Amino acid sequence: MSLSSQLKYLEELTTNAKQVQDNLLEEILRVNGNTEYLRHFLHGSSDKESFKKNVPVVSYDDVNPYIERVAKGEPSNVITGETITNFLLSSGTSGGKQKIFPVNNKYFEKMSFINGLCSSILSKYIDGVREGKVMTFLNTRPLATTPSGLPIAPLSTSFLMSDYFKNLPSKCYVSPDEVILCVDNKQNLYCHLLCGLVQREEVVSISAAFASYLVQAIQFLETHWNELCGNIRSGCISEWITDRGCRDSVSVILGGPNPELAYMIEHECSQKSWEGMITRLWPNSKFIQTIVTGQMSQYIPILEFYSNKLPLVSPRYASSETIFGVNLNPLCKPQDVSYTFLPNMSYFEFLLVDEANNDEIVELVNVKLGCFYEPLVTNNFGLCRYRMGDILQVTGFYNSAPQFRFVRRKGMVLSVNVEVTTEQDILKALNHAGLVLESSALMLMGFTCYVDISTIPGHYVFYWELKEKSFNGIVKLDKKVMVECCCVIEESFDVLYRKFRTKYGSIGALEIRVVAQGTFDSLMKYFITKGASTSQYKTPICIKDPQGLAILEDKVLARFFSDKSPPL
Ligand code: AMP
Repeated sequence: MSLSSQLKYLEELTTNAKQVQDNLLEEILRVNGNTEYLRHFLHGSSDKESFKKNVPVVSYDDVNPYIERVAKGEPSNVITGETITNFLLSSGTSGGKQKIFPVNNKYFEKMSFINGLCSSILSKYIDGVREGKVMTFLNTRPLATTPSGLPIAPLSTSFLMSDYFKNLPSKCYVSPDEVILCVDNKQNLYCHLLCGLVQREEVVSISAAFASYLVQAIQFLETHWNELCGNIRSGCISEWITDRGCRDSVSVILGGPNPELAYMIEHECSQKSWEGMITRLWPNSKFIQTIVTGQMSQYIPILEFYSNKLPLVSPRYASSETIFGVNLNPLCKPQDVSYTFLPNMSYFEFLLVDEANNDEIVELVNVKLGCFYEPLVTNNFGLCRYRMGDILQVTGFYNSAPQFRFVRRKGMVLSVNVEVTTEQDILKALNHAGLVLESSALMLMGFTCYVDISTIPGHYVFYWELKEKSFNGIVKLDKKVMVECCCVIEESFDVLYRKFRTKYGSIGALEIRVVAQGTFDSLMKYFITKGASTSQYKTPICIKDPQGLAILEDKVLARFFSDKSPPL
């Protein structure tokens, strides 16, 4: 679709959101009404009223037995009238265990549409987006298969391996498909950077699905720029790049020896500070495209530091269950991002999240401004009224399609007593502590937290990986600064926390455990061996996994405690 027809279609979809949703539900019920799952509740009827009255709101555990049966080889119609061709593996790092979701090409078709739409939206705001190249850190991992022989892989891998990606009419990436499809993550990352550096003048944007991976790529560059420059100087790729596809295709891009370019990059990378390194190495880059909302907001200061505050564009909100929507205002501040739900993706309902805990469920077009909701997804592939576990807030409407701010993932909370400290509270508190760190030229590169109830009273523990702003600087920990950070975090928690801590003494002093550099990389690698994908990986804000905790504990360099009770 052309840019203008894509934007025209967006207008139609959002103007007729209710009709599009009703039609989609009708289609889903027509195709899936006769599945074992839905027959159980609908007894053959397939109208919207019966659906609303009889089909229960469910969580993964409720549908898992049905999904497992299809994975083990029973026909797809246990759960869907569609033919299932793939299973998507959720990252499982945004709160809980990994899950698998059945899909087929319809999902990838929607993904292609969304990718095109995001690019059209960007073109409206930024000139020349479609003229230059994108340095994108796409990667894949080896496919696993279900007992019935169907591929199981994270969304990104599944999409990249689908015909929709293969047959894209024009790819504007610096890296060839051979690099993108290389399942060895280290070789893949090295080659992406090599291709990006060689074509540095042409790069107009830098992207990765999630901000955490982009930060990882920059850190990889910090440790490999010397070797990359050596390759550019000689025109030969390092021996350890053994993947044939990568070697052959990247050699072509490398062209031949280029000592001037190698010298120029070496000169930049050996500067003491890496502030603005992205714009120094890629001088024509206009923006960074990566998700920086929700859990990813912790990476905003790091990306701003490396990019001299290039615009950070969070393009979409999507999951293995469904794609939800797009950001229609790509140049807004990361803190102001809202996603406009697209009514042709899945049938969406919303469970009101309020203190009274009432079970009110509303349709997409009936959500109310300012209210908090958890989305319920009914998709083509057998999920019906499925609780997403994400909490969103309505910030406005585009035509009649609502726009949502991503608030937090449900269940990601810390609690010693009856206080509930949410992911959002934690991120806010860290923002405040970040200001204290800023004044001492330190950057927070990674964090996670948990509640230590082995002490009496229990207390909150934060694991922090820190870095000096100047390149290769040894982190010097100033006790005063670190204790101040502990205090600032406590002060920004809500009144219940402060009461338990200060008045009743039933929460102990907050602790920061500083871990060695590279610890969060090891944590990621651990989750990846458990099945998470590199590009979909999200550092858990709160960690419960005992082995994950052991990795962190093993690398603790210093401990600091708040030394005063927060004021009430
Ligand atoms: P996965 O199924 O592994 O891709 O993880 C999907 C989850 O990632 C969602 O349910 C959200 O919690 C999170 N997520 C996806 N997109 C965004 C976004 N744009 N902003 C914040 N969180 C997101």
